[in-house]
Amino acid sequence: MEAAPAQAAGAPSPAGAATCGSCPHACAVREGSLGLCGARGCREGRIVPVAYGRVTSMAIDPVEKKPLARWRPGSLLLSVGGYGCNMRCAFCQNHEISQAGADDVAWREVAPDELVAATLAAREDDPRVQGIAYTYNEPLCCWEFVRDTAELARSRGLANVLVSNGCFADEAIGAVAPLVDAANIDLKAFDEAAYRRLGGSLACVRETIRALADEPGCHLEVTTLVVPGVSDSVGDVEEAAAWLASLDPSITYHLTRFFPRWKMSDASPTPVDLLRRMQEAASRHLGDARLGNVWL
Ligand code: SF4
Ligand code: SF4
Repeated sequence: MEAAPAQAAGAPSPAGAATCGSCPHACAVREGSLGLCGARGCREGRIVPVAYGRVTSMAIDPVEKKPLARWRPGSLLLSVGGYGCNMRCAFCQNHEISQAGADDVAWREVAPDELVAATLAAREDDPRVQGIAYTYNEPLCCWEFVRDTAELARSRGLANVLVSNGCFADEAIGAVAPLVDAANIDLKAFDEAAYRRLGGSLACVRETIRALADEPGCHLEVTTLVVPGVSDSVGDVEEAAAWLASLDPSITYHLTRFFPRWKMSDASPTPVDLLRRMQEAASRHLGDARLGNVWL
């Protein structure tokens, strides 16, 4: 993982700022201000998740949409998102919430027990509802909300699904990983320079994927959105697949087709023949390398 912050998470700083230990950005945040993700800030000298429980999006989705291909197929999840993200992907399909702050987007406060109660009610209506998915923006910016909700959900017999960019430090991953039943983690590229351009850290994401692969009881799938000019190297995909196989050859690896979005609205969709070559390369190492967003 990238160099740890010099200061303990949330500890008051003598300079009037506190340093956040939740992700590699290690933001030094002044009193009353927010960190880069817009979801954590400094209040009374400590870093707190100011967007805790601020829900912008909620829907019941099929598990396959997360995507999870080999975990309870046919089931449904109450999917919930807030606002904020610690990365800046130019192709973000959820930029309206991931790049938003509290004043930019409508949200309402939902406590963990309310969310669990809503999921239990949804399960009453439809027994295919298995639990809660933490998704849409970057859920781990408020990992305390994921942790608190997931603990309660598990105690009520619900499952927890995490969909994340994975670019978080032990402080967040260690708190959440033991509560996760299934996860899909983005592997946006297998190249540190490409990650840096997106505002993340490959080393950090690798640590997260390794930690979740090692977590007993956590089903793990990984997704690379294949974006032309960002993550379009067949060699890198093969290297990523070989590395994933070294952790666990049963990991499902999704290679997903990009369609123009946000700041890349003028770009072309990923050529399907490139995706097929990537699938072939990844399949040399993994038993389940599959394509997403390809209907041909
Ligand atoms: S989680 Fe947010 S506030 Fe904390 S270091 Fe990362 S970007 Fe900064
Ligand atoms: S990590 Fe995900 S949510 Fe954040 S900017 Fe990138 S695509 Fe959007």
